[in-house]
Amino acid sequence: MAKNHYDIALLPGDGIGPEVTDAAVAVLTDALKRHGITPHYTTYEAGAAYYQKSNEAISAASMKAVGEADAILLGAMGLPDVRYPDGTEIAPQIDLREHYGLFASLRPCRLFPGVPTRVRADTIDMVVIRELTEGLFAGRHDPTEPNDESASDRLTITRATSEKLFQLAFAQARLRRRLHGTPGHVTLLDKSNVLRSNAFLRKVFDEVAARHPDIGTARLYIDAGSMMLVTNPERFDVIVTENVFGDITSEIAAGVVGGLGVAPSGDVSETHGMFQPSHGTAPDIAGQGVANPIAAILSAAMLLDWMADRHADERCASAAAAIRAATCQVLTHGPKTRDIGGTAGTADVTRAIQNALTSSALAA
Ligand code: NAD
Repeated sequence: MAKNHYDIALLPGDGIGPEVTDAAVAVLTDALKRHGITPHYTTYEAGAAYYQKSNEAISAASMKAVGEADAILLGAMGLPDVRYPDGTEIAPQIDLREHYGLFASLRPCRLFPGVPTRVRADTIDMVVIRELTEGLFAGRHDPTEPNDESASDRLTITRATSEKLFQLAFAQARLRRRLHGTPGHVTLLDKSNVLRSNAFLRKVFDEVAARHPDIGTARLYIDAGSMMLVTNPERFDVIVTENVFGDITSEIAAGVVGGLGVAPSGDVSETHGMFQPSHGTAPDIAGQGVANPIAAILSAAMLLDWMADRHADERCASAAAAIRAATCQVLTHGPKTRDIGGTAGTADVTRAIQNALTSSALAA
């Protein structure tokens, strides 16, 4: 049901995470206020810096509290030099996915006017749907014995998660066709020629596909599919794949539309949604005020779309559309950050998007 105010949990995290979260919050607040909604934000600490002072990636209290909000907006977490004794990084964003069963990550990659690309293509508009809780991350918590000779990780595919994942992929293809005029097509990327788990994944895909005859389908091996993302990105509409394959292919897809600075994402379950830029904490540029805020701002628009759907609130959908239109306008005419060929800083781009939001052309 539509509400008068929404509670949004903020997890800014490490590196450029807080910088891009501030930018997203500024734009999100303006867009919501223009639609008569007052957002209420609560900020929680989590990540590598928090681990260094508390010895935990996220507290149990914060883990519980963020799930009680209407949605979660996350910056980025982890620092390459801060690690657990087993050598892996502090990654509460992965703990959050597991805790809340966020089984799918939606990663739209669209080539906006004004954004340079290194590939030859006029129209790129796809969404990579990455499974998030199993696949090659399934054995993350498996017990291990200290061993300096070998190490292995478990890859698990379950019918329950795969069916939910594919249902979501087909629903997205249909929704995108209705809203954006995209073809209504789903491509599965797998390694079913070698891995039994992936042969099973393909079998479940075929079963779900048979229930959606109005949506076109393709099945590609992950190696060939990765190459086609670079050589022929226009052929893709919705891509769906296993956890690590999706981790990699979503960044290839981001690369062909201008890089991580313009690639948003949303991690979802039937009940919870966590939205964050696809990029990491970018320690090489943190603190310099040059991070591109657009991935985080477009993630805030995805958060609004998700709330619009959950609460049947047209105002949220309209605010999301206004953010996207304002962002598109700024990408076309500038200012732009240096990762996409400009010289502007985070604050300049954020302010320009806020100004574009208030321009009469975009008024709701
Ligand atoms: P990264 O995404 O942080 O950076 C890769 C490159 O892209 C860097 O050159 C960086 O400067 C650039 N970049 C990223 N975001 C940008 C932006 N908004 N504007 C301009 N340039 C941008 O990936 P990495 O260097 O492999 O990882 C750094 C840290 O982030 C690691 O500790 C990693 O574990 C963590 N990480 C976190 C998440 C997450 O929180 N979801 C995702 C990926 C990586």
